[in-house]
Amino acid sequence: MSGIRIANLEKRFGQVQALYPSNLEIAEGELCVFVGPSGCGKTTFLRMIAGLEEATEGEIFIDNQEVTWMEPKKRQVAMVFQNYALYPHLTVQGNLEYPLNILRLNKEAKARRVRQVAGLLEIEKLLQRKPAQLSGGQRQRVAIGRALVREPKVFLFDEPLSNLDARLREQMRLEIRQLHLRLKRTSVYVTHDQHEAMTLGDKLVVMNQGRILEIGPPLELYRNPQTLFTAKFLGHPPINLFPGEAREGVFQAGPLQCQAPIHSGPLTLAIRPEDLTLGQGPGLQLQGRAQLIEHLGREAYVTLATDLGTLRLVTAEEPAQVGENLSVWAAENKILWFNDQEQRIIS
Ligand code: ATP
Repeated sequence: MSGIRIANLEKRFGQVQALYPSNLEIAEGELCVFVGPSGCGKTTFLRMIAGLEEATEGEIFIDNQEVTWMEPKKRQVAMVFQNYALYPHLTVQGNLEYPLNILRLNKEAKARRVRQVAGLLEIEKLLQRKPAQLSGGQRQRVAIGRALVREPKVFLFDEPLSNLDARLREQMRLEIRQLHLRLKRTSVYVTHDQHEAMTLGDKLVVMNQGRILEIGPPLELYRNPQTLFTAKFLGHPPINLFPGEAREGVFQAGPLQCQAPIHSGPLTLAIRPEDLTLGQGPGLQLQGRAQLIEHLGREAYVTLATDLGTLRLVTAEEPAQVGENLSVWAAENKILWFNDQEQRIIS
């Protein structure tokens, strides 16, 4: 079983606590995505799994074997970096062969592996080119090939698509997902991009300020976040938030009133933009003036100015005109509640 187990792993750089004690299990064949804002500790976490950064405390197991103090090259992990890290003086073929030099393979076996990987990534025609003669997407494909060729137990990806333009990023994301489905190799993928995180992984690890906040399947974390941070971080347009107060079991935020899940105290009401519907309906009712309408083809994003602040909704209907007064509603079971500790309250 080449899964990964992390036990009480911690990292300090002097006074900086980059990772607080953390526990995590990644099953064999799973693609696990670490997501969080810049500086939350995700790269440090990944580099500790790779052996490029020493743990301050805790243990790392790969394939049930403790690797916490093992040299990187003995861990049987391969990492793909954001900046590709290709050797500029070597051809694509040379770059793909390079990691095989430390393995005792004969020339024939090496050539076979390079051919296989080049075929898998459809870069056979590029084998004689140097990295400077490749596009960004082709370079990243070679970098992935270089990780594949060693046949590691675990793949580690450190924001591999950040240097690519939006269209290419989308294409490479699909390719990485398809490659994963084909090879089913345990993988950890670091990104600060919530869209990438939502669509790529089997398991999502949401991090903030050196801590793991939540772990789960992406859709589950999206629909059922346990923290306000996760609710805000996942989803575009972002979730609508109305901070207010419960009094005698009634939530109030400006003119908005509805039944609260607690008797009294500060509360935040949150609704996803797609859970709001234009018009009147049974549930929470809001009014606002259409400020901005963004047509995306299949759907539109509508930004409303309300007495409570800006509200965004996603609609497939033909939306109104800018400046028009609109009613919107949400079913009560779509409301998410958070307390002043930013923790979810289940109503
Ligand atoms: P980004 O998305 O910007 O790469 P990240 O979530 O990957 O961010 P890390 O690079 O893991 O975050 O950094 C976590 C924290 O540790 C940050 O506060 C960072 O400044 C600090 N840090 C990282 N490396 C070092 C180092 N070598 N020495 C001191 N502090 C460091």
